[in-house]
Amino acid sequence: MQIKINNKNCCSEKPVIQLTAGEKLCKSHFNEYFENKVFKTIRQFDLLGKEENLGVALSGGKDSLTVLAILNKLSRQNPKIKITAIAIDEGIAGYRDKTLDTAQKFCDENGIQLNIFSYKKEFGFTLDRMLKILNVKPCSICGVFRRYLLNKKSRELKLTKLATGHNLDDEAQSIMMNQMKNNIGASARLGPKVGIINDDKFVQRIKPLYLCMEKEVTTYAFINGLLDKFNECPNVVHSFRAQVRDMLNGMEQKFPGTKHGIVNSFLETLPMLKEKFRGEMVQV
Ligand code: SF4
Repeated sequence: MQIKINNKNCCSEKPVIQLTAGEKLCKSHFNEYFENKVFKTIRQFDLLGKEENLGVALSGGKDSLTVLAILNKLSRQNPKIKITAIAIDEGIAGYRDKTLDTAQKFCDENGIQLNIFSYKKEFGFTLDRMLKILNVKPCSICGVFRRYLLNKKSRELKLTKLATGHNLDDEAQSIMMNQMKNNIGASARLGPKVGIINDDKFVQRIKPLYLCMEKEVTTYAFINGLLDKFNECPNVVHSFRAQVRDMLNGMEQKFPGTKHGIVNSFLETLPMLKEKFRGEMVQV
């Protein structure tokens, strides 16, 4: 269905979102627009093969529930794409237990197998406990352990790829953080397909929401009832990412299109970056 813009409203139904370009879309036109955007991203960046044993990293937040919901639709249309969800329980009291309940509920309702692995069982300590013992920034240690565990368990489950819920805002933040920290080598690992493509030790991570803005993902998740409450990790306030996120949100408000500009120009340079850092690239 072609979306017709009439006085910037897609139709006579109540709009649920205004896009960056100004169009206002109702629920059904927005769902169509958003899902088509994700399917197009998958095709454009060749994220999926004809047959996949696909894992989806599920936190129970808006991004991962959205990517799982859409990939699950795809899997129903194409049974050769098999879906399994993986969740990591870092052990963050009052937060992760709630999002894991949401994740489990979604998987139960949709007949998706959910595999939950915990820091406590795998490493001997919850993240909360680690932070009491070690003098480290929460997200740096948490991110490294999570990526390690996701990769290890994806290999054990014999997954061909692992989809994550990273969206365009996340990518713009990562690009800017790496620039500010003069760590351009880390940017070579970004993009819709993460890291080294042909390495048996790593299950390739893919980002089907790569071109979707956070506000679009949030809208999709809420209007489709994927979750009813927004939960945020209590540690996020301590992160450098949160500061970059706030800065970019401010820039986007003043100069709409800023985040797309960052990601689109980055995509132009990514092949050169990957080439330059090919020898050093590791998928962490
Ligand atoms: Fe871990 Fe930081 Fe994410 Fe919290 S915000 S789950 S501490 S990476």
